[in-house]
Amino acid sequence: MLTKTFGEKNRKKYGVLRNSFFMLREAKTNVPSVIWLAVLDGLIAVAVSVIELYVAPSILEKLEMHSTLPGLLRTILLFTAGITAASALQAYVKQNLNYGRIEVRIHIMNKVRHKMSTSSYPLRDRQDFMDLLIKTNDTLNDNDKAGEAIWRTFTELLQNILGFAIYLYLLKRVDMVVILATMVTAVLGYLVNYYVNEWNYRHREEDEEISKRVLYILDRAEDRYLAKDIRIFGMREWLCGLHDKYMKLYLDFCGRRESRYFAADLTDLVLGILRNGIAYVYLLYMVLGGQIGAAEFLLYFTAVSGFTAWISGIMDGVSTLHRQGLELESVREFLDYKEIFCMEEGLPLDREAGRDYTIELRDVSFRYAGSGAEPAREVFSHLNLTIHPGEKLAVVGLNGAGKTTLVKLICGFYDPDEGEVLLNGVNIKVYNRRDYYKLISGVFQDFSVIAASVAVNVAQDALNIDMERVQDCVGKAGLKKKIETLPQKYETLLDRDVHTNAVDLSGGELQRLMIARLLYKDSPIVVLDEPTAALDPIAENDIYQKYNELTKEKSAVFISHRLASTRFCDRILLIEDGKIAEEGTHEELLGNGKRYAELFEMQSRYYQKTEQGQCSSGRRINQV
Ligand code: ADP
Repeated sequence: MLTKTFGEKNRKKYGVLRNSFFMLREAKTNVPSVIWLAVLDGLIAVAVSVIELYVAPSILEKLEMHSTLPGLLRTILLFTAGITAASALQAYVKQNLNYGRIEVRIHIMNKVRHKMSTSSYPLRDRQDFMDLLIKTNDTLNDNDKAGEAIWRTFTELLQNILGFAIYLYLLKRVDMVVILATMVTAVLGYLVNYYVNEWNYRHREEDEEISKRVLYILDRAEDRYLAKDIRIFGMREWLCGLHDKYMKLYLDFCGRRESRYFAADLTDLVLGILRNGIAYVYLLYMVLGGQIGAAEFLLYFTAVSGFTAWISGIMDGVSTLHRQGLELESVREFLDYKEIFCMEEGLPLDREAGRDYTIELRDVSFRYAGSGAEPAREVFSHLNLTIHPGEKLAVVGLNGAGKTTLVKLICGFYDPDEGEVLLNGVNIKVYNRRDYYKLISGVFQDFSVIAASVAVNVAQDALNIDMERVQDCVGKAGLKKKIETLPQKYETLLDRDVHTNAVDLSGGELQRLMIARLLYKDSPIVVLDEPTAALDPIAENDIYQKYNELTKEKSAVFISHRLASTRFCDRILLIEDGKIAEEGTHEELLGNGKRYAELFEMQSRYYQKTEQGQCSSGRRINQV
């Protein structure tokens, strides 16, 4: 099943040759020395081979001519000096080539990181984009793959082609039958290898899909955050079962792949015996016929096997280049993946101090791209909403109503399928999306903390940090006491997975850190998606008290599923069935006696019951 699905997608957009030129271009722009060092490496390797080829026949010739001992020693010394000098030069070239190859790979890796961090947000939902990223990383993180190894292939190809030409010239005295037999068997060997490489490429996605699952299970099993769940919920056996199942699939795949490699190796071996057999028999026949002498026999004897090696080398090189070209295909497809949003080519949008910003969602319909498991469902249908400058807007609704999606549309993470998102009357699609993001700040549910200091996390910048402002924002977010009791204070590192001396902040403390980050950015539009979900009631109350101060002179969109927490906002929207079901102030909505009032009543009842001792959730008491 997997084989069929993945085997179908093997279209190549660029091709091996263009991908090879891509690498040459990358080197030419960033580390040009790599190109000529690779050429030099190949030339020296051929020179060493040719010198080595002549060593034994030349000495034998001298012996046949009854040369004196000093004459013999001179010849040996000459060859030894030649080989030593060439080998020393080659070692030097190889070392420099190695550094250069790594540098080129790092340049391409940086391009990939840049693409990933600047690409249009919805691309993360696209499976083909994310799969390309996995393949790209696979190609670039392993120095045996095309990102680095292709230089070895270039060098070896050059070396083999030159060697082939020189040996062909040398062997022109030997019958064409030998040359043809050598070439035909080598070409057959290549075709078998080509088939195996093609098979491998066609099944790459199957390989990745299974490996991804095995690695996921292994990762989960080691995850320190999951350690509690594994123990409490007895997940061990279930995870082991999954691991065994995917390992079996993986081993089955490896078995199929290895059987093809084995068949190819066996064919190579048989062809090699055939090729060498014909050549050697023919040369012995020439010696016995008196056509060539002992020194010449030795020269041709060695040259024939060398010639075979050059041909096999060329074929191997072409086949390796073919495989590496296919590996680079993913890298290039990833780097050239078409962006959805306008970036630098869009209109610039400068943030002007004191300028009012109105955001309008006009007749907006939106659905997420469906997955194999779930068809796309419309989240919003013909939604209209205007957020006025400085307005404090609250959005409430049940789980899955679309609150977070609304925020993502406002933030410009997604574009609507129909309708427009307008900034001061202009569709945000025309602007450089990166400029638009500069106007917005937020605390999202799935916030990100980077493995750096508290100050860097607040400033989101490692170089230009305004420490006074960091302290002020941390103070306003209510985290000052905690941070200032830590020995390193604002330089305290976060994320123990990366830094051994880091500090683990609690969920609530991290949420306050995110609020400090929002304040530091000081953008005219802010979105807060359940910013107090992990806070205790006192901390939550503290943030609500400060809400107006935190969002002073800003347009703010505040999401909460706790209706009472939104009463300090200018306007509340209740989202239901992809539409704004109700709209108004807390008092107006309660007065309407509709859905908002019903939901509020439900939460209040829960509160009252808890008060009477029927429930025990202290947290909820304070939420309503
Ligand atoms: P809320 O914030 O009100 O709980 P969301 O905006 O997160 O709701 O989700 C609205 C609907 O969109 C839900 O049905 C949810 O499953 C779906 N959804 C949210 N994010 C995605 C996504 N990235 N891909 C597909 N569907 C999504």
